[in-house]
Amino acid sequence: MYVQEALDSNWVAPLGPNVEAFEEGMRNYTGAGAALATSSGTAAIHLALVALGVEAGDTVFCQSLTFIASTNPIRYVGATPVLIDSEKKTWNMSPVALRRALLQAATRGKLPKAVIVVHLYGVAADIGEIARICEEYGVPLIEDAAESLGTTVDGKMTGTFGTFGIYSFNGNKIITSSGGGMLVSDKPELIERALYFATQARQPVLHYEHTDVGFNYRLSNVSAGVGRGQLLVIEDRVEARRKIFKRYARAFNGLQAINYQQEIEGSRANRWLTALTLPEGGKGERDRLLTELGSRGIEARPVWKPMHLQPVYRDVTFVTEEGEDVSRTFFEEGICLPSGSQMSFGQQATVIQAVRQTLSANVRRNVQI
Ligand SMILES: *Cc1c(COP(=O)(O)O)cnc(C)c1O
Repeated sequence: MYVQEALDSNWVAPLGPNVEAFEEGMRNYTGAGAALATSSGTAAIHLALVALGVEAGDTVFCQSLTFIASTNPIRYVGATPVLIDSEKKTWNMSPVALRRALLQAATRGKLPKAVIVVHLYGVAADIGEIARICEEYGVPLIEDAAESLGTTVDGKMTGTFGTFGIYSFNGNKIITSSGGGMLVSDKPELIERALYFATQARQPVLHYEHTDVGFNYRLSNVSAGVGRGQLLVIEDRVEARRKIFKRYARAFNGLQAINYQQEIEGSRANRWLTALTLPEGGKGERDRLLTELGSRGIEARPVWKPMHLQPVYRDVTFVTEEGEDVSRTFFEEGICLPSGSQMSFGQQATVIQAVRQTLSANVRRNVQI
């Protein structure tokens, strides 16, 4: 409907009424004070760093267990990432490890210019605690809420706790604009600055005058039209995904020990993907399950490979709570099950049956040995 409007009115060029309406819709939905629609979630993170003045030689802390789009913008601005391990409860940034890393940095007299926390698979990090720690050290917090639109903590949307929050509307996310992102903040002057950099850093004069290097990072009016339409159904999508998660958890109850991401108190996760580990069988059991589901044409995936294990970030400092590499275990033993909002009851039953058969077959085999 909004897309047709955009095409009919010839607002196919970037900007136009859908962009502002989509930003307004996101402000209303998230409660953020200001919003900027961007060409991607990655662009939104990049703009957040630029708007905060992060540059070459600076340090930025980031959760290690994430998709690489969280960390790459740190390199785009020439800064050095320091990767922080996860806690076992939410699988997100450990407040204990964060505090350790900040203490070390303060001792060396070089605090990071920003901290990037991620709400992985739509489950909130311990965001209240992380925001408090960042405030204590005076370091701005960026929330990568690309996967967690609709996830709340004490009724407040993830993405609105930090100085900046970012969302993604890539095709695989809970709602999509066929590609796009959103940067939000309660500080309009910071969004204003991000807008400046998102539109080629043009000076406010008639002729084309530039004193900074900017980017072409605005969302198109057609994409914003798609996003506007999808925003109308976000709450239905959250409900659908939560239901899918609950159905899995119920169906696997009693099968063997299974760890899921746990919600912190007062939180409602959007459960974008159902992720789990199999602590009894570990990596071997996880690999068997991945293979078996794959052979039945069911698309299951391993959990994101942490950034400190990526060849491209091999030289980067990694800080754990105290020695144990928690995010590596999630990567090695974790699996994401199909969780699409459009998944039918029958489709989910097929996945459930496959998981049950695989896991119980393994148990039988173990008994025989
Ligand atoms: C998808 C995603 C992004 C990037 O969003 P794009 O719109 O694809 O650029 C960033 N962080 C996380 C955790 C994501 O899952």
